[in-house]
Amino acid sequence: MARQLDPLVRGQQIGDLQILDHLLAFNEQAEVIGSRIQAVRRIGKEVVFELERADHPEDDWLLAVHLRMTGRLIHESGRLAEGRGERHLRAVLELKRGRVLFYDMRRFGTFRLYRTLADALPAGQEPLDRSFTATRLNSLIKGSNTAVKVWLLRQDRICGIGNIYASEILHDCGIDPFRPAVSLNEPELNSLVSSTKKILRKAIRHCGTTFSDFQNANGEVGGYQRFLRVYQHAGEGCHSCGTEILRAVQAQRSTFWCPACQR
Ligand SMILES: [Zn+2]
Repeated sequence: MARQLDPLVRGQQIGDLQILDHLLAFNEQAEVIGSRIQAVRRIGKEVVFELERADHPEDDWLLAVHLRMTGRLIHESGRLAEGRGERHLRAVLELKRGRVLFYDMRRFGTFRLYRTLADALPAGQEPLDRSFTATRLNSLIKGSNTAVKVWLLRQDRICGIGNIYASEILHDCGIDPFRPAVSLNEPELNSLVSSTKKILRKAIRHCGTTFSDFQNANGEVGGYQRFLRVYQHAGEGCHSCGTEILRAVQAQRSTFWCPACQR
């Protein structure tokens, strides 16, 4: 989403920010309006608009949007279409040319304004960074007995792995989600690192598809959906070996896995 928005809004001045949903509890419109968008990028799980203000040129201002479950940022060019489905529209960023609309059916998404880049950076390791290696993973695990699936969701260790991808990553590298994180040996740590990068990169690529589908049709289904191998496939045959995919609950979240492929 950030990659698609960036070329569309980069360099544009924000003319207005309308908060349409009081649940967003965002009151810093005055700080945002009149600033110029330098770039849009992803930091951790947030889509971040890097802002520049003529009156504070030395400061970094970052408008961070956390999409949570169903948030979508849609760029719309041209004039505001009247009578368009506004049901899940929570905020509008008016630009010189066009606007960015924030739709969010379940309303868990958030808007935050950070004063410095350091405030915006998450505590956890960025998994797509070159510094994320088996050695680094091992030091992050630090002897933790937590089940590896639950551990992968700890945003203060690795940022950006959501519940769907944790199951998909472990199936991809053949690791049993119930194994304590500390039990992984070196080859397993290596495959976990490469599966994490592979699955997240692929998911990011297909978010692009979601974005354009949504723009045209207001559909709310992710483009990565058709690549899911285990998530929400309980009772079906494993894509690799045909064994029935199982579902269990770990730390209040669903886990899906193949008991034959994942050891
Ligand atoms: Zn299998």
